[in-house]
Amino acid sequence: SIQLSDRVKAVKPSPTLAITARAAEMRAAGNDIIGLGAGEPDFDTPEHIKAAAVQALKNGFTKYTAVDGIPSLKQAIINKFNKDNNFDYQLNQILVSCGGKQSFYNLAQALLNPGDEVIVPAPYWVSYPDMVLLADGVPVVVETNQAQNFKMSPEQLRAAITDKTRLMVINSPSNPTGSAYTLEELKALGEVLRDYPDILIATDDMYEHILWKKGSFVNILNANPDFYDRTMVLNGVSKAYSMTGWRIGYAAGPAELIGAMRKIQSQSTSNPTSISQVAAEEALNGDQGCIDTMLVEFKKRHDFVVEELNKLEGVDCLHTDGTFYVFPNVDGVIKRLDGIDSDLDFAEYLIEKAGVALVPGSAFGCPGHIRISIATSMENLSKALDRIKQAI
Ligand code: PLP
Repeated sequence: SIQLSDRVKAVKPSPTLAITARAAEMRAAGNDIIGLGAGEPDFDTPEHIKAAAVQALKNGFTKYTAVDGIPSLKQAIINKFNKDNNFDYQLNQILVSCGGKQSFYNLAQALLNPGDEVIVPAPYWVSYPDMVLLADGVPVVVETNQAQNFKMSPEQLRAAITDKTRLMVINSPSNPTGSAYTLEELKALGEVLRDYPDILIATDDMYEHILWKKGSFVNILNANPDFYDRTMVLNGVSKAYSMTGWRIGYAAGPAELIGAMRKIQSQSTSNPTSISQVAAEEALNGDQGCIDTMLVEFKKRHDFVVEELNKLEGVDCLHTDGTFYVFPNVDGVIKRLDGIDSDLDFAEYLIEKAGVALVPGSAFGCPGHIRISIATSMENLSKALDRIKQAI
């Protein structure tokens, strides 16, 4: 048999992608499966964005570009940061990558030495711990619970810091919980971090625009502008513009670190797809109305799903601040049902018995919960909730 690296043995495949694949397989085999596992909007990419890509193709814009992205896209990103976030960046502080996933991957590879610790609040986006492991780093998971709105407290942060801590990750609004930190909360975390000037901060703003209260987005750098030289801002077009398949994400931060991340990227994927870059430029520069259309729909679904979930015995679901996920506590159901001892069992039970595919909270480092994606039609959501109700 082939000897694989210790590195690859230390990580697991993305559980969210695995569940989506399993649902697709079961469906192909003739089963009636409702997928609530998806991490992507169910809307088509807006027409004006697709048209820009078609034009790029017609123009023969199909060759290598600069590794870090075409200058006009980087400029569009700089303008976006200026307009939406009140941040100032130069061209050498921006790196465009193949999705937000590669942005964080590059960061971990460029920053971490073996044994370096990365603080990852749980529930976390499934990929942070594994990408840290792939960089020989050590994820230090800080568990939060529903009673604290799934937000890390300053005390918890302080307790997790050691002299090996190199990076702290924060994702707000959060996948999978939909919770967003307030300015005050971010200031309080900043007060702790101010005592440790060598810790870098990565703020993953992927769901910036999917917030119910329009214009309310703030990240840790807004709350602590003095962290400018130690903060990497990660974002992308995947979720806000329904462009998950185009694979464009971006990072902004200290020029030296961005340069190191560019070097990593130059030896892995080189530039992100030329055509996708033109599409992303149009997404950022063009009409932003498409975001509002999605937002109205997501909010409607959120209100419906949270209300229906809370009617179920043993299910307790918070109203979220945004994103297209809800993250109910299902401990009561797990206790009540024979043969079901964990959220993993429960998710398995639901796909087998109810034909509903969703992701167990354990995948996000938070057992006792499930993640429901509301990025599907109201009809599907309503049907899925009926089926869950029957099954439990
Ligand atoms: N960050 C978070 C919190 C996410 O949920 C995702 C996607 O699921 C990403 C980053 C990466 O997005 P992509 O690589 O598709 O641009």
